[in-house]
Amino acid sequence: MAKHKDFERVLQRLFRQETYWLRRAAGMTPKGAAPSLTKAKRKRHIEHLQKIALDMHVRKVARAEFAAHVDQKKTWHVTKSKGYGRDQKKKTFAVWFSNNVWYKNCIYVFWAGKRCRYVGRTLRGKGRPQAHFVKHWFSGVTRIDIYGVRRPSMAPKLECLAIHRWNPSYTKYKAARQKWTKRCPICKMLKQLQAETMRAFPLRRKTKSC
Ligand SMILES: [Zn+2]
Repeated sequence: MAKHKDFERVLQRLFRQETYWLRRAAGMTPKGAAPSLTKAKRKRHIEHLQKIALDMHVRKVARAEFAAHVDQKKTWHVTKSKGYGRDQKKKTFAVWFSNNVWYKNCIYVFWAGKRCRYVGRTLRGKGRPQAHFVKHWFSGVTRIDIYGVRRPSMAPKLECLAIHRWNPSYTKYKAARQKWTKRCPICKMLKQLQAETMRAFPLRRKTKSC
């Protein structure tokens, strides 16, 4: 509900600014100062609007997709008992991973308490989570969640959804997609939203006089 209100508020503000001069031309006296929006500022407002709209769906869609396509979930807690230093932890993890994770495709999520640090994936056995143990952000990591997926085509889609849902502080912006991989429903939604907002608030205007 709060998100709906946010959306309405940002939309109304944008609309008021966009139609300020039109209302003035019609003899009205619009409230507030005349808008002085730069192109970059307008773009930011529009992107903010798209983000709120998208956020309303992310949790629900991601939960449903994970429930439908994840075949195994495992968690590894980073504790002192797992070895001192990163090298030792890396070794302990590698053994645990090969003994406990049954799938060659998985999404892995690094957490530092409640903050998501990183989202990545293993595809057909390539790209293991322990490769990230050397990264500077690993020092705060408290646990790693692993989602095993039977179908390789599902992994990039779920990875993209995990990025939308948990918004990691360190990650590639977008999950790499191939022709054979399934499309991410949130990215699809974003495209539709962008088309709709562009229609309502076009960023480029034709200026032709006489
Ligand atoms: Zn996506």
